[in-house]
Amino acid sequence: MTTFQHGFKCLECNLHFHVYSWNEVWPTDDDVDEGQPRDPGPFCPGCGKQTYLQFEPIKLDGEIFEYVPGGAKMIGHTFQNPVTNPLL
Ligand SMILES: [Zn+2]
Repeated sequence: MTTFQHGFKCLECNLHFHVYSWNEVWPTDDDVDEGQPRDPGPFCPGCGKQTYLQFEPIKLDGEIFEYVPGGAKMIGHTFQNPVTNPLL
């Protein structure tokens, strides 16, 4: 199986982040079903905005779980302590 790493840079907070997908092409107006809104892209995990620079995807050999989490040690979770929205 092939995994594609899509790279982004947030134009709001300058965070660089990756999104892993089985799809090489990020959805555009040309490849979504008629009548469906265009995918506006990922939300920045740092600030929540959707303004970004998008970079050419990188093709990786292997399954997504081999990269995320891969061999990384889990350092936190929200199972027992869910994040609450401070605005609610
Ligand atoms: Zn951001």
